[in-house]
Amino acid sequence: MALSQQVQSLAEEAVCPICLDLFTDPVILDCGHNFCRSCISQCWEKKEINSCPECREEFPERNLKINRALANLAEKTRKLNLNRKEKESKLHCEEHQEELKLFCETDKKLICVNCAGSREHRDHRFLPIDEAAEIYKDQLKSSFDSLTEKKLAFLETKLKQKGKISEVREQSSSLQAHITSEFSKMHQILTEKEQRLLRDLREEEERILEPMEKNLREIQENLNSIEEKLSKLQKQMEQKDELIFLKEEACRKRRISDERQKLSVSAAGLSIGKFKGPLQYTAWREMINSINPGKTLLFIFLMLNPVVTG
Ligand SMILES: [Zn+2]
Ligand SMILES: [Zn+2]
Ligand SMILES: [Zn+2]
Ligand SMILES: [Zn+2]
Repeated sequence: MALSQQVQSLAEEAVCPICLDLFTDPVILDCGHNFCRSCISQCWEKKEINSCPECREEFPERNLKINRALANLAEKTRKLNLNRKEKESKLHCEEHQEELKLFCETDKKLICVNCAGSREHRDHRFLPIDEAAEIYKDQLKSSFDSLTEKKLAFLETKLKQKGKISEVREQSSSLQAHITSEFSKMHQILTEKEQRLLRDLREEEERILEPMEKNLREIQENLNSIEEKLSKLQKQMEQKDELIFLKEEACRKRRISDERQKLSVSAAGLSIGKFKGPLQYTAWREMINSINPGKTLLFIFLMLNPVVTG
């Protein structure tokens, strides 16, 4: 028995003897016969005694037990039939209800023999279905192949593009590191230069100020002693006793002869040129010299001749 026949005989088991359709909500009687719930209910409504429509066994009580196994079988059979009907309807020409046996190449459409003879397809090219399928499968295969080739090419290009992207990324990050390190060198050199200049300035300031401060102290000492003498002279001038006055006067004259007067200003200036000169230029020169001694001359040349570089 072929599979379809087996399915058919199985499907017959799922048919209600009253409505001759697939069971809907099947119930089983105590005699073992099955019916749709609505079919047996309707059947019993008209009669005074409830009996089985198949075997005539009588049931004083309405005892309708649901038959789940049969319900499942009916449901599955219904689905199977639906699928088969769908398939069958697809394989037949809607217009002529004939099997679709030909392929109209002109319209790219499945047609039946009647269609082929109709005016609609006059002078069109037809192919048997298997031949057409083979031709189109070949075409599909070749477009599949060419698309696969294209895909490979794209994959290769993608790989190359990714390579270029990571190349640029790597380059950029290494340049970033370079910039950071170069500038930190420059910062260091500039800071050192600044500290050195400030230290030099402080030292020079101290060196120059030292004799000046010393001179200032001496001037002050002189002033103090002059003040002292002035006040003594003042007292002497106020002396009324002539004898004492003359005695003091003799003493004063002797002392005055060994007095030496200091009246000079110690003057010296800071090296303005060193601290106020073109600091940028000297800093740059030192910087380029410390980083790349060989290029100092070229650098200075370029710096002094901006037109050449511009
Ligand atoms: Zn029924
Ligand atoms: Zn029965
Ligand atoms: Zn047709
Ligand atoms: Zn056609």
